[in-house]
Order: sequence, then structure tokens, then C-alpha cells
Amino acid sequence: MLNGEKKISRPLRWAMVGGGRSSQVGYKHRTGALRDNTAFQLVAGAFDIDADRGKDFGVNLGVAEDRLYPDYQTMFSEEAKREDGIEAVSIATPNGTHYEICKAALEAGLHVICEKPLFFTSDEVREVKALAEEKGKIVGVTYGFSGNQMLLQMRAMIEQGKIGEIRVVDLQYTHGFSCNDEADKTSEAQKWRVDPKVAGPSFVLGDLSTHTYYMSQLIMPHMKIKELLCDRQSFVGSRAPLEDNAHILMHYENGAVGTMWTSSINAGCMDGHRIRIVGSKASLEWWDSKPNELTYEVQGEPVQTLIRGMSYLDDSCNTDERLAALHQEGLSDAWANIYLKFAIAMDAKNRGDEETLKNLVYPDIDAGLEGVRWIENCVRSADKGAVWVNFE
Ligand code: NAD
Repeated sequence: MLNGEKKISRPLRWAMVGGGRSSQVGYKHRTGALRDNTAFQLVAGAFDIDADRGKDFGVNLGVAEDRLYPDYQTMFSEEAKREDGIEAVSIATPNGTHYEICKAALEAGLHVICEKPLFFTSDEVREVKALAEEKGKIVGVTYGFSGNQMLLQMRAMIEQGKIGEIRVVDLQYTHGFSCNDEADKTSEAQKWRVDPKVAGPSFVLGDLSTHTYYMSQLIMPHMKIKELLCDRQSFVGSRAPLEDNAHILMHYENGAVGTMWTSSINAGCMDGHRIRIVGSKASLEWWDSKPNELTYEVQGEPVQTLIRGMSYLDDSCNTDERLAALHQEGLSDAWANIYLKFAIAMDAKNRGDEETLKNLVYPDIDAGLEGVRWIENCVRSADKGAVWVNFE
């Protein structure tokens, strides 16, 4: 159970690039990083592409005015001159900027937390992974939903054989907010998402399905995809070549099969993020809209709903418990869970504590690499005309 007491000797001095006033994701980072008060301290920022707006925003967040910078380059160089300079930075900017900012942060000697999809290509991720290793720094990736601890319960139950051999993996992350082109014209956050120069080689595959793919890997670390087939299309034609809808079929190395449906044109859908794992004896199902519950269905027995915070859950799940049973947790708590693990990883790296790093389960740069590989393989299959391709 977590109660905010310190897990590392002191909070890390932390800054953000992006995540400004108008951003979709910035507050999620701050709510996660600052939740425990003992993990990170927000001391600096280059919050916005518009320097004045970024400064005004930072002042309103309570950051000292002289540590609000017009751009990330100035922030990294000025902070490096201070004895109390930043030690970690989060990157919450549009996709096309992640690679350069991440490299600059590592070169400046900082630990990094970066948004997904990490970069455009897996070669870029491998290069930055080598740089992080050379500099002795952590790169975490904000697959925020993955901090929902009932996913760790699923992982434990699968590991304990509670559902038998996995046969079918059924994944979905869909919404309907882009079912027409209205936001493509009016929303800054949507405009760049459908521009390949900024979004990269995909829209919903990167924006949505990378989350669910990572969550599936968290739940089933031993399950590797052998080959996949992806069919992607853009129902709003102006988004082509990027897709606003995709279906993926997967064959796993152990003979299991899977599907992923990812879409931003699932009109009217307000409840479209779920994971169902079907085993030879039983199934497990989790919905993002009911993060406190896990359905366990054993063939021939009444359906069970496992509830967050209860003592019958696995220790690995209850370690991330914050509010206790009967009190609802959700996405803010999930982000706080992954941010706490980022802090623990960074502190362990600073101390050369490889044992802690080996046992810590959190979305690290390898998780970022997997997400980019997932996109690459899906796009390769789709662009060949929706054919089966080996997962490379
Ligand atoms: P957004 O367009 O809403 O906001 C981007 C923010 O970055 C703005 O404040 C903008 O001013 C700022 N910015 C842009 N370029 C900058 C630069 N060079 N220096 C400093 N600030 C800069 O975008 P968003 O929806 O918040 O998405 C940002 C990133 O977060 C994307 O990679 C996206 O995929 C990811 N995202 C992740 C989640 C999640 O759940 N993990 C949710 C939403 C978005």
C-alpha cells in the first residue's frame, strides 16, 4: 500500500518540455509526478512552443520565474549551470519533436520521461537507448493506463496458471472523437495528429493502440508476436495516408491468436478501451471505464468480479494500492504509479543499484522500442495491402 512516504532519499528536481496550458496531456504528467510529493519536484519548464504563454503558465503553476525558459535548449544549458539544476525532464510535445528533445536531454545529463509513441523509427530508439546507456540515464515512457494495478493482478493470475494456456487475446482501444473532420480544422492537438511530418507513420496505431499493446505485454510478458496482418484505412479521406481506423490480426509464437481494433471514428463510443484474455480454462477481462474491477470467468462457474484493494488480490497488485477498497481509483492514480516507478528507477540508476532496476516493472525504453516496432510492423503489413508479415 502506498501512502506518499518517501521511496527515494529525496524528490528529484524535475522539469517539463511541453505540456502547456492548452495541451491535452500536460496535467496528467503533473498529477502523476507530483502526487506523492516525495518522488519529483517541479522546478523548471519550457512548457509551450509560445514562450510568453509558457512563462505565464509556469508562473501560474508556481514555478520560479527565472526558471521558466523560452525553449528546451536554453533550459538544458541554463539549468546545467546551477548547483540545484534539474535532474529529470518530461517531454510532452507532439511526436515529431520527441527524438531531438530526448537526445538533447540525455546529452545534458538528464533522466528522461517521454511521451508515446517514442520516436518515428526503431533505429532512432536503438540509437537513443545506446546514448542513455552511455550516459547512465533512464528513459521512461508514459503509457499512463499501464499504471492501473488490476493489470498486475491479471499478470499474476496468468503467471499462476489461473486461466490455463492463453488461446485468444482480444484488444480494443477506440473512440469516436474524430468521426468527422471538424477537429482536424479547429484543434491544434488534432491537426498535428493527422500530419505525417509531425505524427509519424500512423495516427491511431501510434496514438491509441501503442497503449493497449504495451498493456498486453505487461500482462503477458512471455507472449511474443510471430506475425501480424494489419488493415488500415482513413474514413475521413483528408487524413490519408494516415489511418483513423485499423484492425490487426496477430499470431503469437505459442500458437495463440489475437486481434486489436483501434479507431478514432467509432462514433458515439465512450467506452472502447478493453483487454480480454481467453485461456484454456478461464478468461480475464478489464475495461478502462471500470479500472477498479477485473472479471474472472471460469468455464462452468459463476462469473467473479475481483475488486481493487481487497486482500485476496496478489501482492504485486496491492503494492500499488493507494486509497483502499471501497474508494475508487483511476487514471490519476495510474499515472502516479508509473511516475513513482520512474523516480525509483532513476534513483536506483544514480546509485548503481542494478538489483532494483532488474526487478522494477515499469514502461522503460524497451517498452518504447516495442511500441515503435508495433507501429512499423502494422504499417508495413497495411501498406503491402493488408498481408501477413513476420514481426521484425
Ligand atoms: P497538444 O498539441 O495538446 O500539446 C502539445 C504541447 O506541447 C503544447 O503545450 C505546445 O505548446 C507544446 N509544444 C510543442 N512543441 C514544443 C516545443 N518544441 N517546446 C516546448 N513546448 C512545445 O498535444 P498532446 O495531445 O498533449 O500530445 C503531446 C504528446 O503526448 C504526444 O506525443 C501524444 O501522443 C502524447 N499523449 C499521450 C497521452 C497518454 O495518455 N500518455 C495522452 C495524450 C497525448
